[in-house]
Amino acid sequence: MIIRNVRILGGEPADIRIEDGAIAEIGPNLPGESVVDGAGAIALPGLVDLHTHLREPGREDAETVQTGTQSAARGGYTAVHAMANTSPVADTAGVVEQVWRLGREFAHCDVHPVGAVTVGLEGKQLAELGAMADSAARVRVFSDDGKCVDDAVLMRRALEYVKAFDGVVAQHAQEPRLTAGAQMNEGVVSGRLGLTGWPAVAEEAIIARDCLLAAHVGSRLHVCHVSTAGSVEIIRWAKSKGWNVTAEVTPHHLLLTDDLVEESPVGAYNPIYKVNPPLRTRADVEALRAALADGTIDIVATDHAPHPVEDKETEWSAAAMGMVGLETALSVVQEAMVETGLLDWAGVAQRMSVVPARIGRLGGQGQPLDVGAPANITLYDPSARTKVDPSAFASKSRNTPYEGMTLPGRVVATFLRGRPTVLEGKLV
Ligand SMILES: [Zn+2]
Repeated sequence: MIIRNVRILGGEPADIRIEDGAIAEIGPNLPGESVVDGAGAIALPGLVDLHTHLREPGREDAETVQTGTQSAARGGYTAVHAMANTSPVADTAGVVEQVWRLGREFAHCDVHPVGAVTVGLEGKQLAELGAMADSAARVRVFSDDGKCVDDAVLMRRALEYVKAFDGVVAQHAQEPRLTAGAQMNEGVVSGRLGLTGWPAVAEEAIIARDCLLAAHVGSRLHVCHVSTAGSVEIIRWAKSKGWNVTAEVTPHHLLLTDDLVEESPVGAYNPIYKVNPPLRTRADVEALRAALADGTIDIVATDHAPHPVEDKETEWSAAAMGMVGLETALSVVQEAMVETGLLDWAGVAQRMSVVPARIGRLGGQGQPLDVGAPANITLYDPSARTKVDPSAFASKSRNTPYEGMTLPGRVVATFLRGRPTVLEGKLV
């Protein structure tokens, strides 16, 4: 099977021959039956998301493993990490194995369950980290995402514990007392609107503490969805010390700002822009872009957070926090990072495939497109222009802030170990 006429990482046109799920040959005009004409599309290693909410078990009205991974495949992903804040919470070997099995049975990409750090995400008692690591799901990423592990002793113990199996604690950095009742970024706009503000320091204080804790115990820390310029400075400092700290930024924090809450194409106070951490200021966006470009922030992670219509189309204060993101991530990154000249396609591949797979310790994902590598491949046409139409999403939920916007690029095809999951932009 041959994929014809693709540009690996945006390079010269070539064909890719796939055999037994792996890349067997790369070169011009390879003989053989052609499956896909890439028509000059860019070939990237299949994207890997370190931060996806698949909602199953418990909120199948918002998303399932099947629909969430269909959404992932449409967005060019070949692997996702499924966050633990399901119902029941993924805090035991039994629940992570259930999610892992659903992935094996129904998924359109690989599904790697994230284990909760504390029982029930309650921040009181460590969950069975070792049992989840030893389970069939082989969990390596642990997170109470949605909630912060704010108890410093518990955070220290979790960091110590995961060292035994080369795991990582992915922290949702949000000091709970400083953000009680918070509705949006604390700043000029929240002041004008009279909404309770969410100060940058609530994120930055936890990140600083956790970097120090990770260094103290010699463990791996990953910082979820960094959203402020101050957080970037702290992570840059921690990395300069040689500490084992990695960080992610979401596509929406690379593009959108808090003034959309006051004035936007969909009106004021539209909860489509309500998200945790909140959209910040233009200066924060600029700092996040620069940090992703220079490697201070290692990766892009979607924080795909599907919610049913009734949970989003309500008054601002009552609305759920979060946005879907899998099907628009690559386009938003092209808009924010490639069109601005901050990253080339090799840089995008590093930050959306190679490094997230490394942080999650996924052996068969995020490999450069070389002979012998598993044929996890995303074909992307950056010259396309697409008007975002949520009704066309594979996701069960529609809560995208990009509705009606024209974004660059289009995922043409996705291959999972040589098997197409998406062709001509459509699910196979
Ligand atoms: Zn989070």
